[in-house]
Amino acid sequence: ITPSLGISLYPVDGKDFDTLLRNADAAMYKAKEAGRNAFRFYSSEMNVATLKHLLMESGLRRGLGAREFVLHYQPLVDLRTGEICGTEALLRWNHPHRGILSPATFISIAEETGEIVRIGQWVLEESCRHAVEFQRLRPSYPLTLCVNISAAEFRQHDLPRRIAEILEETGLPARQLKLELTESVLIHDIPSTLDMLGELRDLGVGLAIDDFGTGYSSLSYLQRLPVDTLKVDRSFIARLGVDATSGPVLRAIVEMGNALNMNVIAEGIENQWQWDSLADIGCRQGQG
Ligand code: MG
Ligand code: MG
Repeated sequence: ITPSLGISLYPVDGKDFDTLLRNADAAMYKAKEAGRNAFRFYSSEMNVATLKHLLMESGLRRGLGAREFVLHYQPLVDLRTGEICGTEALLRWNHPHRGILSPATFISIAEETGEIVRIGQWVLEESCRHAVEFQRLRPSYPLTLCVNISAAEFRQHDLPRRIAEILEETGLPARQLKLELTESVLIHDIPSTLDMLGELRDLGVGLAIDDFGTGYSSLSYLQRLPVDTLKVDRSFIARLGVDATSGPVLRAIVEMGNALNMNVIAEGIENQWQWDSLADIGCRQGQG
């Protein structure tokens, strides 16, 4: 057991019990954010932060019911033919006061409160329904739908069962769904990660490592993971041609992925030169 302590001092931080306790509570959250097993003294900026946090929390609870979440789709392109071969579903929160918010602003709060599970369920259902629609418009090209799975969702033991139900209800073939997981999710509690990946794999869905190259996964561990796709982090593509090492590193990642029979997708391609360079080194798919 490790403690997280928040400390408020009479009389500077409050003159009555309720104020002192509330401020100590805000300081305790700061201690927890700092990685737990720590203490923090209260400061008045903390109240502003706590208030923002509370507003986000209640907003998230309301947002789903109020249909404030939307999905944006970013195409995945075959770099040799230019054909669209899939799409990634990206979650946005159309906040009534703050406009369109990216997940970076709210996912960590949604994970803390557990709201992420309901939001993630909605993302899966909605995107699978859309993917069936997209496929109907272009029946001759099989489209892959990529969906990001957060750490908290990945730790839900019934995730495989829920995905099976969604596939059944929407009629999306399992092979057309690909789940994206980041390296940090995959290196956490390795035995149960392997079990979970195995169960998901048995459903027939694809598995991708997202933002590859930014985490700490060892190559020997990578070999043991039943994943079929590497999504190379955009930072490598952004530095292509800018520094001397990015080209060779990128080439090595693509060659390794190809040698392991993985599908390699380059993220964050912003211009034709990057597209051509990636196609030249044998990268088959990309997205913007
Ligand atoms: Mg992703
Ligand atoms: Mg990514």
